[in-house]
Amino acid sequence: MRNALSVDVEDWFQVGAFEKVIARDAWETLPRRVERNTDAVLALFDQAGVKATFFTLGWVAERHPALVRRIAEAGHELASHGWDHRRVFTMSEAEFRADLERARAAIENAGGVRVAGYRAPSFSIDARTPWAHPVLAEQGYAYSSSVAPVRHDHYGWPESPRFGWRPVAGAELIELPVTTVSVAGRRLAAGGGGFFRLLPYAFSTWAVARTNSSEHRPAIFYFHPWEIDPDQPRVANAPLKSRLRHYTNLSTMEPKLLKLLEQHEWTRVDEVALAEQARLA
Ligand SMILES: [Zn+2]
Repeated sequence: MRNALSVDVEDWFQVGAFEKVIARDAWETLPRRVERNTDAVLALFDQAGVKATFFTLGWVAERHPALVRRIAEAGHELASHGWDHRRVFTMSEAEFRADLERARAAIENAGGVRVAGYRAPSFSIDARTPWAHPVLAEQGYAYSSSVAPVRHDHYGWPESPRFGWRPVAGAELIELPVTTVSVAGRRLAAGGGGFFRLLPYAFSTWAVARTNSSEHRPAIFYFHPWEIDPDQPRVANAPLKSRLRHYTNLSTMEPKLLKLLEQHEWTRVDEVALAEQARLA
């Protein structure tokens, strides 16, 4: 079974965990590493022979159009991660609509391809944002991968479905939640990000295998370009918990990823969305 491989293209200073200590208006002054790190991801995918989806910030696309073109030219899917990583539940419906439009225009202008997929920053579509999926449907998105159906300290919508579902009646839009495993009645996040980097490899590969073989569903996996960059600047004044999460195991991430890419089958999120659409039809 082909699983969805995705990368959230943002820089080391744009993550939710540092939001309180790095103001958005300081971003312009910080050394950008997103281009070299994303090129390293492209090389890794080339080595593993896999195609993936790159959910890219409009802010990044506007400043690195050549990178965005290289992603598309290598056969990967370009999708939207919003404009500047503002979480959906902090916006009004009108602000969300504007954020989507601005990001999509920047990505499409840089990449020369149409964007059909969206991932909310920090999986921030949840019970507080009932207007979010309808706005995505109205703007013609084919899929969203914006929900973490778990309980977590920063995000989560634990009551929502674990696998592909149609959030808007009468619309084609499909929501592909990030992968979770259900263990003894508890849902655990298992779709990548910090969990993949911090937990033993065995947990993640088991979670993908179990999703495919016991639940007969594709896994939805993600990581960030900064997670393979051990040399990124350190944010000293961030909370200890955030620093531990952000900086642990950066240097072992690349070989760990390669192993996961080789042990399972992977493809772009739009292809998995099509397969899931057919299942729900
Ligand atoms: Zn993000």
